[in-house]
Formats: sequence, C-alpha cells, structure tokens
Amino acid sequence: MTENLQNTTFPTTNAEQYEAARSVMPGGVNSPVRAFGSVGGTPRTMVKAAGPYLTDVEGTEYVDLVCSWGPMLLGHNHPAVVEAVHRAVDAGLSFGASTPDEARLGRLIMDRVPVEHVRMVSTGTEATMTAIRLARGATGRNLVVKFAGCYHGHSDGLLAAAGSGLATQSLPGSAGVTEAQAAETLVLPYNDRAALEAAFAQHGERIAAVITEAAPCNMGVVTPEDGFNLFLRQITQDHGALLIWDEVLTGFRASDTGYWGLSGRLEGWTPDLWTFGKVIGGGLPTAAVAGRAEHMDLLAPLGPVYQAGTLSGNPVAMASGLATLENATAEVYETIGRRSEQLESMLVDALNAEGVDHSIQRAGTLFSVAFGTSENGVHNYADAQGQEAFRYGPFFHAMLEHGVYLPPSVFEAWFVSAAHDDAAMERIGAALPHAAKAAAA
Ligand code: PLP
Repeated sequence: MTENLQNTTFPTTNAEQYEAARSVMPGGVNSPVRAFGSVGGTPRTMVKAAGPYLTDVEGTEYVDLVCSWGPMLLGHNHPAVVEAVHRAVDAGLSFGASTPDEARLGRLIMDRVPVEHVRMVSTGTEATMTAIRLARGATGRNLVVKFAGCYHGHSDGLLAAAGSGLATQSLPGSAGVTEAQAAETLVLPYNDRAALEAAFAQHGERIAAVITEAAPCNMGVVTPEDGFNLFLRQITQDHGALLIWDEVLTGFRASDTGYWGLSGRLEGWTPDLWTFGKVIGGGLPTAAVAGRAEHMDLLAPLGPVYQAGTLSGNPVAMASGLATLENATAEVYETIGRRSEQLESMLVDALNAEGVDHSIQRAGTLFSVAFGTSENGVHNYADAQGQEAFRYGPFFHAMLEHGVYLPPSVFEAWFVSAAHDDAAMERIGAALPHAAKAAAA
C-alpha cells in the first residue's frame, strides 16, 4: 500500500486533475454543474479556500463568487467556524444519538423564523423530499405543483422542468423518473396566476402542496411579481393544500435587513412548511424541514410520516452551522447587501460600456445577469431560456482568466460573502471590462 502511494504521480495541473477525475467519476464530477458543461473549458480543481478566495491545484487564486453555491455566508474558513468545527471533531465525529447542538441549532432557526419544530436532515434534497411527503401525509392527496425553472433538489418527482444543473444541460427532466412519478407533479410557469387558478380549478381536491422557491434562483434569479407569493398563500389555503417555501438557497442569506431569508419580507402571513440548507450548515452537510407542530409532529417517531438519517444532525455539521448562524450578525447582512449592490453596479457599468444588452435579476442580496433581456426582463423559465445565453461562456472565461470564479452557468445566482473586502472587489472590478468585451463579441 505504502509502495503504491509512493509510486503514484499526483497530477499538478487542472487539465491533468480533470483527466484523472474523469477516470473515476462520471463526467469527472460529483455534481453536474461543476463540469463547466455550459461554458466549456477545463474545470478548476480547488485545493484551498480562505476568506473571499479559492486556490486551484496550479496555485492560481480566484475571488470566489460561488461561495460553495451559498453556504459560505461569512467567507471561507471563518476563524470562529473553524474553531467550532475543530472542537466538535475532538469530541467525536458522529454518535448515532442525540447531541446538544442539534437542539441549539434548531432553536436558533426557531428564534429567527416563525416555526414551531425543526427536523435536521443532511441535504436540501432530503428537506424538500420530506416536506412533500409531509404534505401528502397531512392532506391525504397526491399531486404537487411546482414551477418550471425552480430547483428543489434531485428527488424523482421534483426533477420535472427543474432549473440549476438541468437548465444548464437543457434537459427537460431526468431519465429514470417513472411516468407515474412525473404525473404527480404539475409544472406551471412562474409568476402566472391564471395557470395556478386553472390548475386548482381542475385538480384542486387532489393537490397536496405547492412548492416554490421563496424567490427562484436556479434559472438565474427571478423576482416574484408583487403579491405573487401572497397569492400562492391564498390559493393553497382556499383549496386545503399546503404551501412549501423552499429557502434552501435564500434562507439566512437573501435578506439585507437581518437574519431572515426572504421570509423577512413576508407581511403578516406564513407558509406551512419551510426548507433550509446551505447557510445553516456553514459548509458542512446540513439542511432542515420546519413548520408548525400540527404538521411537523406527523413525522416519525410521533406520527405516521417516516423520515430518518444515519448522519442527520451530525455533530460536526451542527457545530459549523451554529457558529455560522451565531456569527451572522446584522452587520454581516449589511455588508453582504452593500457588496452585492456594488458588484451589480460595477457589472452594469462594464456591460453598458461595451453596449451589451442585459438585465439584472435581483432577489434581496442575490442577483444574476441575463443577456439580451433588457426590454422585458425575465419573469419565468421561458424568458430565462430565451436569453442570449451564448454570451455567458466568453464572459465567464474572461473573468476566470482575470482571477474571478463565477458560477459556471448563466442560470445560477452570484454569491458574495461578508469576507468580500475592498481588495476582492477591486480585483473583480479589474476583470469586468475584459469580460464585458468578451460578452459583446
Ligand atoms: N432547493 C433549492 C432552492 C436549491 O437551490 C437546492 C440546491 O441548490 C436544493 C433545494 C437542493 O439542495 P442540495 O443540493 O443540498 O440537495
């Protein structure tokens, strides 16, 4: 064994690493969008992260605007998070039994979001899957309404017309999903009240839930039109269906006004079930489903809806999540809001200077750019797909060349962290004119 290791030549370039990865993992990745499928070129293999920076295997440093797809709210390797994780590791990696930090993290969520109970799981996919099962268990109904372009993880029934990696690959869904499963998901255009009214008029008594992203961020960002979320609350309530509010991506990140996700903007109403992920694990695998006791107590062991997980509430992940949320002060959100606006204005200036037609899609502190859409903006998945997506590849690669790591797909939000300081912003500012020129070509 030792001899084998000594004889192994470890690849030192991104190209060699990718080649080695492809001989092991399908497509060389463990999650599709990392493969640079829609922008082309060689994916970077990262070996280090600190503050707002990532470093690849060749030693090249990038300002990171992916932030691990959302979790790194405080920036990479925040000292308080690292220290909490080290302490947890020293105490034991996994106990297969309850630990104090599970209830602490759950309580922190309950203090900040109007929910009565929280169940920890390991991924956002599990959280939304559990929420759907709960909704079906609570209502005794089968059908679920989702919106085209919204991504809720990769469970079978939720892959129909999903955004994120599926948008990148232009796949309508996924092979391996049975017709029966697909038939239980009604896919509607986002922001379309008439489509919802028609669906409820036809199938109202069979609809268990509407699941929606608090603001869609997986077809690029799409702003909910004024009153659309409240309309979802009303139509579900009127028909005895549950409203599942997926804040896996927006939760504890999107609001610049405090701890909340987009829930901070709800005025006097709440959904029935929430899902969280990403930020609540601070970079380690944790997610949650949460809601009122009347629904949450249907979960095993109290109720008939089964759900479980070997590593649910893992102590190291709990420590990371707790330290992240405890350090997510009002100042952190204010910084992220300010940096995000600064970034948007630098981006807009650079694109305008090159005459690149675009619109900025924003939801709280999250935004994305859509090319060729200035006239009508992007209100749903069809709009997002109709944009001049071909401009993003050259734009992305020019940024990469100049030391900025953007999401490798136009259908993803840009993430900033509280660690994005003046130096990081200056580096982005220096890269943007090159990228705008590339996008204009
Ligand atoms: N829901 C939303 C809104 C997401 O953005 C994601 C992932 O990006 C998920 C669910 C799935 O989370 P995970 O990748 O942790 O399974």
